[in-house]
Amino acid sequence: MSATAPREGEGIVGGQPLPDGWAAPAHRPGADDLASTSFAERAHENLQRPFQRTAIANATDHTVKALQERFEGTDHDALREEARRIRAHAIANLPAYLEQWVDCAEARGITVHFAADEAEARRLVAGICTDAGAARVVKSKSMASEEIALNSALEDAGLDVVETDLGEFVVQAMGDRPSHVIAPILHRTAGEVRELFSAMAGEELPEDPVALTSFAREGLRHAFLTADVGISGGNFLIAETGEVVLVTNEGNGRLTTSLPRVHIALVGIEKLLPRRSDLAVLLPLLTGHGTGQRITTYVSVLGGARGATEPDGPEQMHVVLLDGGRSALLGGEFEEALHCIRCGACQNVCPVYRQVGGHAYGWVYGGPIGAVLTPLFRGQADGGELSHATTLCGACDDICPVKIPLHDLLLGLRRRRVAEDAAPVSERIAFAAWGLAWRHPLLYRATTGAARAGLALAAQNGVVSRRLPGLGRWTATRDLVLGRRR
Ligand code: SF4
Repeated sequence: MSATAPREGEGIVGGQPLPDGWAAPAHRPGADDLASTSFAERAHENLQRPFQRTAIANATDHTVKALQERFEGTDHDALREEARRIRAHAIANLPAYLEQWVDCAEARGITVHFAADEAEARRLVAGICTDAGAARVVKSKSMASEEIALNSALEDAGLDVVETDLGEFVVQAMGDRPSHVIAPILHRTAGEVRELFSAMAGEELPEDPVALTSFAREGLRHAFLTADVGISGGNFLIAETGEVVLVTNEGNGRLTTSLPRVHIALVGIEKLLPRRSDLAVLLPLLTGHGTGQRITTYVSVLGGARGATEPDGPEQMHVVLLDGGRSALLGGEFEEALHCIRCGACQNVCPVYRQVGGHAYGWVYGGPIGAVLTPLFRGQADGGELSHATTLCGACDDICPVKIPLHDLLLGLRRRRVAEDAAPVSERIAFAAWGLAWRHPLLYRATTGAARAGLALAAQNGVVSRRLPGLGRWTATRDLVLGRRR
Protein backbone atom coordinates (compact mmCIF):
# COMPACT_ATOMS: atom_id res chain seq x y z
CA MET A 1 0.00 0.00 0.00
CA SER A 2 1.45 3.32 -0.94
CA ALA A 3 -0.85 5.82 0.77
CA THR A 4 -1.03 6.39 4.47
CA ALA A 5 -4.50 6.81 5.92
CA PRO A 6 -5.13 10.29 7.28
CA ARG A 7 -5.77 10.17 11.01
CA GLU A 8 -7.60 12.61 13.21
CA GLY A 9 -5.24 15.41 14.10
CA GLU A 10 -3.17 14.94 10.96
CA GLY A 11 -4.96 17.62 9.01
CA ILE A 12 -7.66 15.78 7.06
CA VAL A 13 -10.62 14.63 9.07
CA GLY A 14 -14.06 13.35 8.19
CA GLY A 15 -16.97 15.61 7.43
CA GLN A 16 -15.29 18.18 5.18
CA PRO A 17 -17.42 19.21 2.21
CA LEU A 18 -16.74 17.85 -1.25
CA PRO A 19 -15.24 20.27 -3.82
CA ASP A 20 -17.24 23.34 -4.83
CA GLY A 21 -19.80 22.59 -7.50
CA TRP A 22 -20.23 18.96 -6.63
CA ALA A 23 -23.88 18.28 -6.26
CA ALA A 24 -24.74 16.39 -3.13
CA PRO A 25 -25.30 12.78 -4.21
CA ALA A 26 -28.98 12.28 -4.78
CA HIS A 27 -31.20 9.75 -3.06
CA ARG A 28 -31.87 6.84 -5.37
CA PRO A 29 -35.45 6.06 -6.12
CA GLY A 30 -36.80 3.04 -4.25
CA ALA A 31 -34.70 0.03 -5.12
CA ASP A 32 -37.74 -2.14 -5.47
CA ASP A 33 -40.35 -1.66 -8.21
CA LEU A 34 -41.76 -5.16 -7.98
CA ALA A 35 -44.92 -4.39 -6.06
CA SER A 36 -45.88 -1.21 -7.91
CA THR A 37 -45.35 -2.18 -11.58
CA SER A 38 -45.37 -5.33 -13.70
CA PHE A 39 -42.48 -6.67 -15.73
CA ALA A 40 -44.43 -5.88 -18.90
CA GLU A 41 -44.86 -2.23 -17.86
CA ARG A 42 -41.22 -1.85 -16.96
CA ALA A 43 -40.09 -3.60 -20.14
CA HIS A 44 -42.34 -1.37 -22.23
CA GLU A 45 -40.93 1.73 -20.58
CA ASN A 46 -37.34 0.62 -21.21
CA LEU A 47 -38.05 -0.26 -24.82
CA GLN A 48 -38.87 3.41 -25.39
CA ARG A 49 -35.18 4.21 -24.97
CA PRO A 50 -33.84 3.00 -28.35
CA PHE A 51 -30.26 4.01 -27.59
CA GLN A 52 -30.32 1.77 -24.54
CA ARG A 53 -30.73 -1.33 -26.72
CA THR A 54 -27.84 -0.30 -28.95
CA ALA A 55 -25.65 0.49 -25.95
CA ILE A 56 -26.41 -2.85 -24.30
CA ALA A 57 -25.85 -4.79 -27.54
CA ASN A 58 -22.52 -3.07 -28.19
CA ALA A 59 -21.22 -3.55 -24.66
CA THR A 60 -22.38 -7.13 -24.22
CA ASP A 61 -21.20 -8.24 -27.68
CA HIS A 62 -17.78 -6.83 -26.88
CA THR A 63 -17.64 -8.65 -23.52
CA VAL A 64 -18.79 -11.98 -24.96
CA LYS A 65 -16.18 -11.74 -27.73
CA ALA A 66 -13.48 -10.92 -25.18
CA LEU A 67 -14.59 -13.91 -23.10
CA GLN A 68 -14.28 -16.25 -26.07
CA GLU A 69 -10.81 -14.92 -26.91
CA ARG A 70 -9.74 -15.13 -23.27
CA PHE A 71 -10.31 -18.88 -23.08
CA GLU A 72 -9.30 -19.77 -26.62
CA GLY A 73 -6.91 -22.72 -26.66
CA THR A 74 -7.64 -23.62 -23.02
CA ASP A 75 -9.73 -26.46 -21.65
CA HIS A 76 -12.42 -24.01 -20.67
CA ASP A 77 -15.05 -26.65 -20.04
CA ALA A 78 -12.80 -28.57 -17.64
CA LEU A 79 -12.17 -25.34 -15.70
CA ARG A 80 -15.91 -24.63 -15.53
CA GLU A 81 -16.54 -28.18 -14.36
CA GLU A 82 -13.96 -27.81 -11.59
CA ALA A 83 -15.53 -24.48 -10.58
CA ARG A 84 -18.96 -26.11 -10.47
CA ARG A 85 -17.57 -28.83 -8.22
CA ILE A 86 -15.95 -26.33 -5.84
CA ARG A 87 -19.06 -24.19 -5.57
CA ALA A 88 -21.37 -27.19 -5.13
CA HIS A 89 -19.15 -28.55 -2.36
CA ALA A 90 -18.90 -25.17 -0.61
CA ILE A 91 -22.66 -24.61 -0.67
CA ALA A 92 -23.51 -28.18 0.34
CA ASN A 93 -21.28 -27.68 3.40
CA LEU A 94 -22.04 -24.02 3.97
CA PRO A 95 -22.74 -24.10 7.75
CA ALA A 96 -19.41 -25.85 8.48
CA TYR A 97 -17.38 -23.55 6.21
CA LEU A 98 -19.13 -20.51 7.62
CA GLU A 99 -18.18 -21.55 11.15
CA GLN A 100 -14.58 -22.14 10.07
CA TRP A 101 -14.43 -18.75 8.36
CA VAL A 102 -15.84 -16.95 11.40
CA ASP A 103 -13.32 -18.62 13.76
CA CYS A 104 -10.41 -17.70 11.51
CA ALA A 105 -11.66 -14.15 10.89
CA GLU A 106 -12.16 -13.49 14.60
CA ALA A 107 -8.68 -14.87 15.32
CA ARG A 108 -7.44 -12.17 12.92
CA GLY A 109 -9.24 -9.47 14.90
CA ILE A 110 -12.08 -9.02 12.42
CA THR A 111 -15.42 -8.25 14.08
CA VAL A 112 -18.07 -10.48 12.51
CA HIS A 113 -21.78 -9.65 12.48
CA PHE A 114 -24.69 -11.74 11.21
CA ALA A 115 -27.65 -10.14 9.48
CA ALA A 116 -30.67 -12.38 9.00
CA ASP A 117 -32.37 -9.95 6.64
CA GLU A 118 -32.04 -6.62 4.90
CA ALA A 119 -33.38 -4.56 7.81
CA GLU A 120 -30.91 -6.11 10.25
CA ALA A 121 -28.03 -5.58 7.82
CA ARG A 122 -28.95 -1.90 7.44
CA ARG A 123 -29.18 -1.48 11.22
CA LEU A 124 -25.83 -3.18 11.78
CA VAL A 125 -23.92 -1.15 9.17
CA ALA A 126 -25.49 2.14 10.28
CA GLY A 127 -24.73 1.24 13.91
CA ILE A 128 -21.04 0.59 13.19
CA CYS A 129 -20.84 3.95 11.39
CA THR A 130 -22.50 5.92 14.16
CA ASP A 131 -20.45 4.12 16.86
CA ALA A 132 -17.37 5.23 14.95
CA GLY A 133 -18.63 8.83 15.00
CA ALA A 134 -18.57 8.85 11.22
CA ALA A 135 -19.73 11.74 9.08
CA ARG A 136 -18.70 10.50 5.62
CA VAL A 137 -18.74 7.01 4.13
CA VAL A 138 -17.08 5.96 0.89
CA LYS A 139 -18.33 2.83 -0.84
CA SER A 140 -16.88 0.53 -3.43
CA LYS A 141 -19.19 -1.45 -5.67
CA SER A 142 -21.36 -3.93 -3.76
CA MET A 143 -24.46 -5.70 -5.05
CA ALA A 144 -25.24 -6.83 -1.50
CA SER A 145 -25.51 -3.17 -0.51
CA GLU A 146 -27.93 -2.67 -3.41
CA GLU A 147 -29.96 -5.63 -2.09
CA ILE A 148 -30.41 -3.96 1.28
CA ALA A 149 -30.81 -0.39 -0.11
CA LEU A 150 -27.96 0.66 2.15
CA ASN A 151 -27.36 4.17 0.84
CA SER A 152 -30.80 5.45 1.81
CA ALA A 153 -30.46 3.93 5.29
CA LEU A 154 -27.08 5.59 5.84
CA GLU A 155 -28.30 8.93 4.51
CA ASP A 156 -31.31 8.70 6.81
CA ALA A 157 -28.83 8.17 9.66
CA GLY A 158 -27.26 11.52 8.74
CA LEU A 159 -24.22 10.17 6.90
CA ASP A 160 -22.73 11.54 3.72
CA VAL A 161 -22.39 8.54 1.36
CA VAL A 162 -20.17 8.63 -1.73
CA GLU A 163 -20.04 5.81 -4.27
CA THR A 164 -16.48 5.55 -5.60
CA ASP A 165 -16.74 3.03 -8.44
CA LEU A 166 -17.00 5.34 -11.45
CA GLY A 167 -20.15 3.72 -12.81
CA GLU A 168 -21.78 3.61 -9.38
CA PHE A 169 -20.78 7.22 -8.81
CA VAL A 170 -22.57 8.26 -12.02
CA VAL A 171 -25.60 6.21 -11.06
CA GLN A 172 -25.69 7.80 -7.61
CA ALA A 173 -25.27 11.35 -8.86
CA MET A 174 -28.05 10.79 -11.42
CA GLY A 175 -30.38 9.40 -8.74
CA ASP A 176 -30.46 6.24 -10.84
CA ARG A 177 -29.76 2.56 -10.21
CA PRO A 178 -27.23 0.12 -11.68
CA SER A 179 -28.58 -1.98 -14.55
CA HIS A 180 -25.94 -4.70 -14.76
CA VAL A 181 -23.99 -6.70 -12.17
CA ILE A 182 -20.61 -5.69 -13.59
CA ALA A 183 -21.33 -2.55 -15.63
CA PRO A 184 -23.73 -0.31 -13.65
CA ILE A 185 -24.17 2.33 -16.38
CA LEU A 186 -24.54 0.03 -19.34
CA HIS A 187 -27.81 1.84 -20.07
CA ARG A 188 -26.32 5.36 -20.10
CA THR A 189 -24.56 7.23 -22.88
CA ALA A 190 -21.22 9.03 -22.72
CA GLY A 191 -23.16 12.19 -23.58
CA GLU A 192 -25.33 11.81 -20.49
CA VAL A 193 -22.21 11.41 -18.33
CA ARG A 194 -20.66 14.49 -19.91
CA GLU A 195 -23.80 16.51 -19.19
CA LEU A 196 -23.87 15.33 -15.59
CA PHE A 197 -20.22 16.08 -14.93
CA SER A 198 -20.45 19.44 -16.71
CA ALA A 199 -23.33 20.43 -14.43
CA MET A 200 -21.31 19.37 -11.40
CA ALA A 201 -18.21 21.18 -12.64
CA GLY A 202 -20.12 24.34 -13.56
CA GLU A 203 -18.43 24.37 -16.99
CA GLU A 204 -18.70 22.44 -20.26
CA LEU A 205 -16.47 19.38 -20.15
CA PRO A 206 -15.43 17.60 -23.36
CA GLU A 207 -16.94 14.20 -24.24
CA ASP A 208 -13.57 12.64 -23.69
CA PRO A 209 -13.39 9.62 -21.36
CA VAL A 210 -10.00 10.69 -19.97
CA ALA A 211 -11.19 14.22 -19.16
CA LEU A 212 -14.43 12.97 -17.61
CA THR A 213 -12.64 10.35 -15.54
CA SER A 214 -10.10 12.92 -14.36
CA PHE A 215 -12.91 15.18 -13.21
CA ALA A 216 -14.47 12.36 -11.16
CA ARG A 217 -11.09 11.28 -9.82
CA GLU A 218 -10.39 14.72 -8.38
CA GLY A 219 -13.54 14.78 -6.26
CA LEU A 220 -13.35 11.12 -5.34
CA ARG A 221 -9.78 11.50 -4.06
CA HIS A 222 -11.04 14.19 -1.72
CA ALA A 223 -13.88 11.94 -0.60
CA PHE A 224 -11.45 9.10 0.16
CA LEU A 225 -9.20 11.37 2.18
CA THR A 226 -12.05 12.74 4.27
CA ALA A 227 -14.05 9.56 4.83
CA ASP A 228 -14.30 7.93 8.23
CA VAL A 229 -15.72 4.60 7.04
CA GLY A 230 -15.16 2.57 3.89
CA ILE A 231 -17.79 0.03 2.86
CA SER A 232 -17.02 -2.71 0.37
CA GLY A 233 -18.58 -5.95 -0.74
CA GLY A 234 -16.61 -9.15 -1.07
CA ASN A 235 -16.28 -11.54 -4.02
CA PHE A 236 -15.15 -14.51 -1.94
CA LEU A 237 -14.65 -15.52 1.69
CA ILE A 238 -11.84 -18.03 2.27
CA ALA A 239 -12.90 -20.48 4.98
CA GLU A 240 -9.42 -21.81 5.83
CA THR A 241 -7.93 -18.33 6.38
CA GLY A 242 -10.79 -16.03 7.41
CA GLU A 243 -9.98 -13.64 4.55
CA VAL A 244 -12.18 -11.54 2.27
CA VAL A 245 -11.25 -11.37 -1.42
CA LEU A 246 -12.15 -8.29 -3.42
CA VAL A 247 -11.83 -7.97 -7.19
CA THR A 248 -11.83 -4.48 -8.75
CA ASN A 249 -10.52 -2.65 -11.78
CA GLU A 250 -10.36 0.96 -10.64
CA GLY A 251 -8.31 0.95 -7.46
CA ASN A 252 -11.23 2.42 -5.56
CA GLY A 253 -11.68 -0.87 -3.70
CA ARG A 254 -8.19 -0.61 -2.22
CA LEU A 255 -8.66 3.01 -1.23
CA THR A 256 -12.07 2.24 0.33
CA THR A 257 -10.71 -0.63 2.37
CA SER A 258 -7.44 0.93 3.47
CA LEU A 259 -7.74 4.73 3.82
CA PRO A 260 -10.71 5.29 6.19
CA ARG A 261 -10.20 4.33 9.82
CA VAL A 262 -13.05 1.78 9.74
CA HIS A 263 -13.67 -0.78 7.02
CA ILE A 264 -16.96 -2.68 6.73
CA ALA A 265 -17.33 -5.53 4.23
CA LEU A 266 -20.93 -6.53 3.52
CA VAL A 267 -20.92 -10.03 2.06
CA GLY A 268 -23.56 -12.65 1.28
CA ILE A 269 -23.02 -15.87 3.21
CA GLU A 270 -22.84 -17.90 0.00
CA LYS A 271 -19.54 -16.32 -1.06
CA LEU A 272 -17.50 -18.97 0.77
CA LEU A 273 -14.71 -20.98 -0.79
CA PRO A 274 -13.07 -23.72 1.25
CA ARG A 275 -9.44 -22.97 0.35
CA ARG A 276 -7.31 -20.12 -0.91
CA SER A 277 -6.12 -22.39 -3.73
CA ASP A 278 -9.72 -22.46 -5.02
CA LEU A 279 -9.09 -18.91 -6.24
CA ALA A 280 -6.84 -20.40 -8.94
CA VAL A 281 -10.00 -21.80 -10.51
CA LEU A 282 -12.62 -19.20 -9.61
CA LEU A 283 -10.71 -15.97 -10.23
CA PRO A 284 -9.90 -16.58 -13.92
CA LEU A 285 -13.51 -17.56 -14.49
CA LEU A 286 -14.96 -14.57 -12.63
CA THR A 287 -12.77 -12.07 -14.45
CA GLY A 288 -12.87 -13.85 -17.81
CA HIS A 289 -16.66 -14.20 -17.82
CA GLY A 290 -17.21 -10.77 -16.25
CA THR A 291 -15.03 -8.60 -18.47
CA GLY A 292 -13.00 -10.88 -20.72
CA GLN A 293 -9.82 -10.01 -18.83
CA ARG A 294 -7.17 -12.55 -17.85
CA ILE A 295 -7.22 -11.00 -14.40
CA THR A 296 -8.65 -7.74 -13.03
CA THR A 297 -6.32 -4.86 -12.24
CA TYR A 298 -6.64 -5.35 -8.48
CA VAL A 299 -7.24 -8.51 -6.49
CA SER A 300 -7.16 -7.69 -2.77
CA VAL A 301 -7.01 -10.36 -0.09
CA LEU A 302 -8.12 -8.62 3.09
CA GLY A 303 -7.12 -10.21 6.36
CA GLY A 304 -8.02 -7.76 9.10
CA ALA A 305 -7.31 -4.31 10.45
CA ARG A 306 -3.89 -2.65 10.48
CA GLY A 307 -1.44 -4.54 12.71
CA ALA A 308 0.60 -2.87 15.45
CA THR A 309 3.69 -2.68 13.26
CA GLU A 310 1.92 -1.87 9.99
CA PRO A 311 1.85 1.75 8.78
CA ASP A 312 -1.30 1.44 6.65
CA GLY A 313 -4.82 0.10 6.85
CA PRO A 314 -7.97 0.67 8.87
CA GLU A 315 -8.06 0.61 12.66
CA GLN A 316 -11.12 -1.65 12.64
CA MET A 317 -12.41 -4.20 10.17
CA HIS A 318 -15.98 -5.46 10.38
CA VAL A 319 -17.64 -8.06 8.20
CA VAL A 320 -21.45 -8.14 8.03
CA LEU A 321 -22.58 -11.53 6.74
CA LEU A 322 -25.90 -11.21 4.94
CA ASP A 323 -28.37 -14.08 4.82
CA GLY A 324 -31.29 -12.26 3.16
CA GLY A 325 -33.07 -15.43 2.01
CA ARG A 326 -29.97 -17.47 1.18
CA SER A 327 -30.07 -20.08 3.94
CA ALA A 328 -33.70 -20.90 3.02
CA LEU A 329 -32.41 -22.24 -0.31
CA LEU A 330 -29.98 -24.73 1.23
CA GLY A 331 -30.88 -28.34 0.54
CA GLY A 332 -33.80 -27.36 -1.70
CA GLU A 333 -34.68 -27.39 -5.39
CA PHE A 334 -33.07 -23.99 -5.97
CA GLU A 335 -29.83 -24.44 -4.00
CA GLU A 336 -27.77 -24.13 -7.18
CA ALA A 337 -28.74 -20.46 -7.42
CA LEU A 338 -26.31 -19.96 -4.51
CA HIS A 339 -23.40 -21.11 -6.70
CA CYS A 340 -23.54 -17.81 -8.59
CA ILE A 341 -20.33 -15.74 -8.53
CA ARG A 342 -22.02 -12.61 -10.00
CA CYS A 343 -20.01 -12.43 -13.21
CA GLY A 344 -22.94 -11.07 -15.23
CA ALA A 345 -22.24 -13.30 -18.25
CA CYS A 346 -25.77 -14.71 -18.35
CA GLN A 347 -27.12 -11.17 -18.68
CA ASN A 348 -24.84 -10.50 -21.64
CA VAL A 349 -26.24 -13.35 -23.72
CA CYS A 350 -29.87 -13.24 -22.64
CA PRO A 351 -32.09 -12.13 -25.58
CA VAL A 352 -34.63 -10.67 -23.16
CA TYR A 353 -32.12 -8.71 -21.07
CA ARG A 354 -30.46 -7.39 -24.22
CA GLN A 355 -33.76 -5.81 -25.28
CA VAL A 356 -35.24 -4.54 -22.03
CA GLY A 357 -32.16 -3.89 -19.84
CA GLY A 358 -31.70 -4.48 -16.14
CA HIS A 359 -34.25 -2.04 -14.71
CA ALA A 360 -37.12 -3.97 -16.27
CA TYR A 361 -36.50 -6.76 -13.75
CA GLY A 362 -37.66 -4.43 -10.99
CA TRP A 363 -35.04 -5.16 -8.35
CA VAL A 364 -31.27 -5.44 -8.06
CA TYR A 365 -30.43 -8.30 -10.41
CA GLY A 366 -31.37 -8.49 -14.08
CA GLY A 367 -31.20 -11.16 -16.76
CA PRO A 368 -31.54 -14.88 -16.08
CA ILE A 369 -29.89 -14.79 -12.66
CA GLY A 370 -32.20 -11.90 -11.74
CA ALA A 371 -35.23 -13.85 -12.90
CA VAL A 372 -34.11 -16.65 -10.57
CA LEU A 373 -32.85 -14.73 -7.53
CA THR A 374 -35.56 -12.08 -7.36
CA PRO A 375 -38.51 -14.43 -6.65
CA LEU A 376 -36.31 -16.50 -4.33
CA PHE A 377 -35.11 -13.50 -2.30
CA ARG A 378 -38.11 -11.18 -2.65
CA GLY A 379 -40.97 -13.65 -2.80
CA GLN A 380 -43.01 -15.32 -5.48
CA ALA A 381 -45.91 -12.89 -5.18
CA ASP A 382 -43.96 -9.93 -6.55
CA GLY A 383 -41.03 -11.52 -8.39
CA GLY A 384 -42.61 -14.75 -9.64
CA GLU A 385 -43.59 -13.35 -13.03
CA LEU A 386 -39.89 -12.95 -13.88
CA SER A 387 -39.60 -16.69 -14.50
CA HIS A 388 -41.54 -15.91 -17.69
CA ALA A 389 -39.12 -13.14 -18.69
CA THR A 390 -37.06 -15.62 -20.63
CA THR A 391 -37.13 -17.44 -23.94
CA LEU A 392 -35.70 -20.61 -22.35
CA CYS A 393 -33.10 -20.64 -25.13
CA GLY A 394 -30.45 -22.00 -22.76
CA ALA A 395 -27.74 -19.46 -23.73
CA CYS A 396 -27.34 -18.61 -20.04
CA ASP A 397 -26.63 -22.25 -19.13
CA ASP A 398 -23.99 -22.45 -21.84
CA ILE A 399 -22.09 -19.39 -20.69
CA CYS A 400 -22.32 -19.70 -16.89
CA PRO A 401 -18.79 -20.25 -15.53
CA VAL A 402 -20.05 -22.44 -12.69
CA LYS A 403 -22.59 -24.28 -14.85
CA ILE A 404 -25.72 -23.25 -13.01
CA PRO A 405 -28.70 -24.82 -14.84
CA LEU A 406 -30.55 -21.49 -15.02
CA HIS A 407 -32.98 -22.87 -17.58
CA ASP A 408 -34.06 -25.68 -15.18
CA LEU A 409 -34.31 -23.27 -12.26
CA LEU A 410 -36.54 -20.98 -14.32
CA LEU A 411 -38.78 -23.89 -15.24
CA GLY A 412 -38.90 -24.91 -11.58
CA LEU A 413 -39.96 -21.40 -10.63
CA ARG A 414 -42.68 -21.49 -13.27
CA ARG A 415 -43.92 -24.78 -11.82
CA ARG A 416 -43.90 -23.27 -8.34
CA ARG A 417 -45.87 -20.28 -9.60
CA VAL A 418 -48.49 -22.56 -11.09
CA ALA A 419 -48.61 -24.69 -7.93
CA GLU A 420 -49.07 -21.58 -5.82
CA ASP A 421 -51.84 -20.43 -8.15
CA ALA A 422 -49.97 -17.21 -8.75
CA ALA A 423 -50.99 -17.04 -12.41
CA PRO A 424 -54.03 -14.84 -13.24
CA VAL A 425 -57.42 -16.58 -12.82
CA SER A 426 -58.28 -16.11 -16.53
CA GLU A 427 -55.02 -17.83 -17.53
CA ARG A 428 -55.62 -20.74 -15.16
CA ILE A 429 -59.20 -21.24 -16.40
CA ALA A 430 -58.10 -21.08 -20.04
CA PHE A 431 -55.33 -23.65 -19.62
CA ALA A 432 -57.50 -25.95 -17.47
CA ALA A 433 -60.23 -25.91 -20.16
CA TRP A 434 -57.67 -26.47 -22.90
CA GLY A 435 -56.14 -29.41 -21.02
CA LEU A 436 -59.59 -30.91 -20.45
CA ALA A 437 -60.63 -30.56 -24.08
CA TRP A 438 -57.46 -32.03 -25.55
CA ARG A 439 -57.73 -35.16 -23.46
CA HIS A 440 -60.53 -36.26 -25.79
CA PRO A 441 -59.65 -37.00 -29.45
CA LEU A 442 -63.00 -35.72 -30.70
CA LEU A 443 -62.70 -32.41 -28.89
CA TYR A 444 -59.06 -32.14 -29.94
CA ARG A 445 -59.99 -32.54 -33.62
CA ALA A 446 -62.97 -30.22 -33.29
CA THR A 447 -61.01 -27.39 -31.61
CA THR A 448 -57.99 -27.59 -33.90
CA GLY A 449 -60.31 -27.73 -36.92
CA ALA A 450 -62.21 -24.68 -35.68
CA ALA A 451 -58.94 -22.83 -35.03
CA ARG A 452 -57.71 -23.61 -38.56
CA ALA A 453 -60.96 -22.43 -40.07
CA GLY A 454 -60.92 -19.23 -37.98
CA LEU A 455 -57.33 -18.46 -38.94
CA ALA A 456 -58.05 -19.09 -42.63
CA LEU A 457 -60.91 -16.58 -42.43
CA ALA A 458 -58.75 -14.00 -40.68
CA ALA A 459 -55.81 -14.42 -43.07
CA GLN A 460 -54.95 -12.44 -46.15
CA ASN A 461 -52.56 -14.16 -48.55
CA GLY A 462 -51.77 -16.70 -45.84
CA VAL A 463 -50.82 -14.09 -43.22
CA VAL A 464 -52.87 -13.08 -40.18
CA SER A 465 -51.74 -9.57 -39.30
CA ARG A 466 -54.61 -8.36 -37.12
CA ARG A 467 -55.13 -8.80 -33.38
CA LEU A 468 -56.91 -12.03 -32.56
CA PRO A 469 -59.54 -12.19 -29.81
CA GLY A 470 -58.05 -13.62 -26.61
CA LEU A 471 -54.52 -13.32 -28.05
CA GLY A 472 -54.45 -9.55 -28.33
CA ARG A 473 -51.18 -8.93 -26.53
CA TRP A 474 -49.40 -11.68 -28.44
CA THR A 475 -50.72 -10.83 -31.89
CA ALA A 476 -50.53 -7.03 -31.53
CA THR A 477 -46.87 -7.12 -32.53
CA ARG A 478 -46.67 -10.42 -34.41
CA ASP A 479 -48.03 -11.74 -37.70
CA LEU A 480 -49.07 -15.36 -38.00
CA VAL A 481 -47.89 -16.97 -41.20
CA LEU A 482 -50.09 -19.98 -41.98
CA GLY A 483 -48.21 -23.04 -43.19
CA ARG A 484 -49.53 -25.56 -45.69
CA ARG A 485 -50.53 -28.99 -44.50
CA ARG A 486 -48.46 -31.65 -46.23
S1 SF4 B 1 -25.66 -17.25 -12.94
FE1 SF4 B 1 -23.67 -17.85 -13.77
S2 SF4 B 1 -23.42 -16.50 -15.56
FE2 SF4 B 1 -25.07 -15.60 -14.32
S3 SF4 B 1 -24.05 -14.09 -13.01
FE3 SF4 B 1 -24.14 -16.03 -11.86
S4 SF4 B 1 -22.22 -17.06 -12.27
FE4 SF4 B 1 -22.43 -15.48 -13.82
